[in-house]
Amino acid sequence: MSAKILLVEDSSSQLMFLKDGLVKNGFTVETAVNGAEAYKKLFEFIPDIVLSDIMMPTIDGYQLCRLIKNKEETKKIPVILLTVLDKKIDNFWGKKAGAQLFLSKSIDIEELVKNINATLRRYPITDEYKANIAQKFSPENSAQSQLNVILNDLLLKSVFANEFRNLSDFLNYERILVEKLFSLLSSFVEYTVAGVYFASPDDFSENILYIDTLGRNFSKTFLSDIQYDFFRKLDDIKNVRDTKFEVVRILLGKEVDYTFTDMKSKIIIPLVFDKKLIGGICFYTRSDIDYASFRYFDIMISELLAIFKMKYQYTEKEFMSVLDGLTGLYNRRQFELGLEQEFNRTKRHPADFSLAILDIDFFKKVNDNYGHQYGDYVLKTVSDLMKASFRKTDLLYRYGGEELVMIMPETNIEGAIIPTQRLRRSVEEYDFDYNGVKAKVTVSIGLTMNYLEFKNSTELLKSADESLYKAKESGRNRVIIYEGNSKDE
Ligand code: GH3
Ligand code: MG
Ligand code: MG
Repeated sequence: MSAKILLVEDSSSQLMFLKDGLVKNGFTVETAVNGAEAYKKLFEFIPDIVLSDIMMPTIDGYQLCRLIKNKEETKKIPVILLTVLDKKIDNFWGKKAGAQLFLSKSIDIEELVKNINATLRRYPITDEYKANIAQKFSPENSAQSQLNVILNDLLLKSVFANEFRNLSDFLNYERILVEKLFSLLSSFVEYTVAGVYFASPDDFSENILYIDTLGRNFSKTFLSDIQYDFFRKLDDIKNVRDTKFEVVRILLGKEVDYTFTDMKSKIIIPLVFDKKLIGGICFYTRSDIDYASFRYFDIMISELLAIFKMKYQYTEKEFMSVLDGLTGLYNRRQFELGLEQEFNRTKRHPADFSLAILDIDFFKKVNDNYGHQYGDYVLKTVSDLMKASFRKTDLLYRYGGEELVMIMPETNIEGAIIPTQRLRRSVEEYDFDYNGVKAKVTVSIGLTMNYLEFKNSTELLKSADESLYKAKESGRNRVIIYEGNSKDE
């Protein structure tokens, strides 16, 4: 039996010429004058191969090719695109549309036949496959409506991709990244509670599940249940321990009385890259939703994976390096190592050392009022003031976000209070000015030393944290020393 060719060409002279040549070479040829007609004939004539012009009115060759390749029932039919233009971009676009071959129209018949035969040998289709095409024909599946589906899908994908890619500006601001992510997710996913978790490449970082409650105030029990449920599921993949949750986007108000059992639907999506768990995301809702069948979930997940991958690699890079990129201070990992070292050293050879934690006051407002770049500038400037206030032998670190820590070896509280207060005062007095925008900023500091009561460096760190908390509580812009003997200057 001779092979069947569906020939698509809008110029009637070209069409006649090609048809003639092909018939003479023993092919059975059916013709169409545009993509829409060709698409319809695809299901009636059921060709072994489609030979199509590119430039045609209404539905062109690329679009026809996409239509054919987009459907499971037709995608195996090979497509050869013919054009007068022989530009690289046409070739590229043709391949992207799924065409098997791209030929110049100026090709002679003999050469064309050779190419058709080669393509037919490479992409043979079975009778069974053909029979299935015939059954799948439905007149309302017009080319235009099929094309609209494809176009909408592509448009949606690119919009999704854009929205998610915009998040990549915030890879180093985890909180902001999370807030933006939630605001994006909440715009197209229905949920009562959503959670986002970034796995960290190091072992000592806390596992935090960020939770979005859409501004509602849920009970701690409810949120712990969600957290438990989420991490239990992820545990199958990797042992995630010592987890905590943190609620973002919460507004103060009356507590909403939901319990975990009120949640009717949920989906927990672990994000895995290179066999490693790099994060996860979850949605819980009180209504009946089959999340898994949600049409855009696949697109969403692949975009999420891209962001999580970037975030993971970013953290990994930060982690591997010693210095923090923005402030030039030692990073958190170095701090963890440094504190442990100093603690153990003074256990063996008793000596005093002091520890201070600084947190910028109302830093969120700085970001909100002047933008993140300004926030970065403030953070960098405070770090510089810090360097200027302490001795060369003191160890200065960026602990996280806008928290800086100082280890002062061979220094007791009396000695530590002096540079610490000097720093607090120098920030208070500094006239922040970035591109002509002026601002005043203050910092709160918790100060402690290696008192005998601390069994390990974690307890010591906690005491500094508590003092910092007290400094915030009692009005900010002050230094509070651990153990109630609080002084302000
Ligand atoms: P408080 O006085 O209680 O500390 O108020 P605050 O607004 O400073 O509160 P909090 O310490 O919780 O907020 C820290 C904010 O700092 C959250 C985040 O938006 C921002 N932030 C963290 N790291 C960075 C950073 O590297 N650059 C910028 N621009 N902002 C950061
Ligand atoms: Mg702060
Ligand atoms: Mg803070």
